[in-house]
Amino acid sequence: MAGAKFRSARVPQYDTISAMRSMLALWAFLLAASLWSAAPYLEIYFIDVEGGQATLIVTPAGESMLVDAGWPGFQGRDAARIQAAARLAGIKRIDYLLMTHYHLDHVGGIEPLLEHLSVVCFVDHGENTETGKSAEALSESYRRALARGKRLTVKPGDRIPLRGAEVLVLAARGNLIAAPPHGAGAPNPSCEGVPAKADDPTENARSVGFLLTYGRFRFLDLADLTWNKELELVCPINRIGTVDVFLVNHHGMNLSNSPPLVHGIAARVAILNNGAKKGGSPDVLRLIRRSPGLEDLWQLHLALAADPQDNASPERIANLEAECQGHWLKLTAESSGAFRITNSRTGETKAYPPRSP
Ligand SMILES: [Zn+2]
Repeated sequence: MAGAKFRSARVPQYDTISAMRSMLALWAFLLAASLWSAAPYLEIYFIDVEGGQATLIVTPAGESMLVDAGWPGFQGRDAARIQAAARLAGIKRIDYLLMTHYHLDHVGGIEPLLEHLSVVCFVDHGENTETGKSAEALSESYRRALARGKRLTVKPGDRIPLRGAEVLVLAARGNLIAAPPHGAGAPNPSCEGVPAKADDPTENARSVGFLLTYGRFRFLDLADLTWNKELELVCPINRIGTVDVFLVNHHGMNLSNSPPLVHGIAARVAILNNGAKKGGSPDVLRLIRRSPGLEDLWQLHLALAADPQDNASPERIANLEAECQGHWLKLTAESSGAFRITNSRTGETKAYPPRSP
């Protein structure tokens, strides 16, 4: 009896402990599941839109920002390629669509894209600064798109409120950030003797450019910003600092990519969103190669006008033929600053360890 009494006295206590253990196990499972669903990586898809721009960023918080929408036409080619990347990234809508400037290879694909993907917020520098028939057609197309989401107009120094990464606007509508971000602002020795060019009155010089920071990882995208604005931004002091990855300006054209910018930011990796016959100027490719600390150059296309030795190694080129299948490059970054790049044509990935402190 005593034994039975003893057991009956112990059973409720045992049940309580058992229940607590089950609760703890459930809690651990739910925590693991939530961590699993929010992978601790930042992803950037460099989508091939044949010498335009479409760059999809997905943060560890699960939010997305698409930088530009490629070209219109070609039976919806660019919208389909962006949609394919969004599917791979597991996103069903674009949280922020940044329209860097009003040119056909950036804003032209916006209406075809909206047939497939919804956008929560459009981000831009304000109204189109160009006039004329084709500029007005692009403005009208963008106005129609704007009716389908919210709008945020940004200026230098603003942060695009993408959760999970910091996106600092450096350039917008021809204006540039006044105060260098933390860690930047050193004199730039590469400015010495580099002359300005004739002023660029186009939308290129009004491009929205940003610095994305995720932990110790830094990514620079200045869209099609041109030479004189670059010089203003990095001379005589470098208001960008150094970066891990540089999306080469303006598809690698030599109207942009001044030595003070390319060498001042000292990127570990440069990525070119060129087409087979657009961008990828041989002199820009050579300048990038001479950049201090450069580890690799990657390209969305083999630049046909450049010599083979000026182009990146074939394994770091997403598309080798002019009539291509639209292969992409994907970058995955960790908060440690480590990152890796995958070429969808070869399926191969190259890893880059964190930069030494
Ligand atoms: Zn462009």
